[in-house]
Amino acid sequence: MPELPEVETIARQLRRVVVGKRIADFTSLWHRVSEPMPASLFAARLAGHRIVGVGRRGKLVVLELDGAEALIVSLRMTGRLLFERDGGAADPYTRAVVRFDDGSLLRFADTRKFGRMAVVDLEELSGEGGGAKTPLHRSLGIEPLSRRFTTRRLAELLRRRSRAAIKPLLLDQRAIAGIGNIYAIEALWRARLHPLRTAGSLRPAEAARLHEAIRWVLRKGIRFGGASRRDYRDARGERGRMQREFTVYDRAGEPCPRCGRAIVRTVVGGRGTFHCPRCQRAPAS
Ligand SMILES: [Zn+2]
Repeated sequence: MPELPEVETIARQLRRVVVGKRIADFTSLWHRVSEPMPASLFAARLAGHRIVGVGRRGKLVVLELDGAEALIVSLRMTGRLLFERDGGAADPYTRAVVRFDDGSLLRFADTRKFGRMAVVDLEELSGEGGGAKTPLHRSLGIEPLSRRFTTRRLAELLRRRSRAAIKPLLLDQRAIAGIGNIYAIEALWRARLHPLRTAGSLRPAEAARLHEAIRWVLRKGIRFGGASRRDYRDARGERGRMQREFTVYDRAGEPCPRCGRAIVRTVVGGRGTFHCPRCQRAPAS
């Protein structure tokens, strides 16, 4: 499932190729891709608009349109957003196509059909903890790579949610936007924190380590073009390279790169989790 680094990679690639293009038409091949808006209405809302920027909010790709609107795309499990200069080859998993007036197109392919698109007012995306405006971005929390995400802000969050286990808290998009299972696992290993530690039990030095680790793993993920396990592909249809860099994710039984102890797999909050039992000491209870 694409997380912040994967979505950021796609957004950066698209920025280079679609900014300035005018949307000629939108075709839906899966009626739920634009729900609750009917595809015909969705197409009418997009047609004639120019793309003026491409960004990211949490795990959403944000295509900024003239008129202070945005086409936002949630890739969910298996969504791919592919830019094709010359119309491209047929793809049986195509769910929607945004065609530009120069003949190039943006294809939304999605094998499992969980991905969605929506058109929103741009300003709805800028705030944090905003209301439920569309089904795609209910109350997104702070951006972890933004300047506003300071150690102090993280410490405040840990205090406010003091009883929450740290790993599920990192995955809560209403708290911090963009972190998923892979980068939460890697950040906790780097910060030497057990996934079941409660947020309120972290000492200031540990909170500072976690803050550093979150930003470090996300930036590294972006640098390596995201992680491809099964489905993720960037906007050019290519795999990322971050999967080779995992320290503990999907490495049960392999030695911890820091201390050599075998990495173990557990389940926390319903999600498979990997940690080093020596570097990441379990809480006492
Ligand atoms: Zn270790």
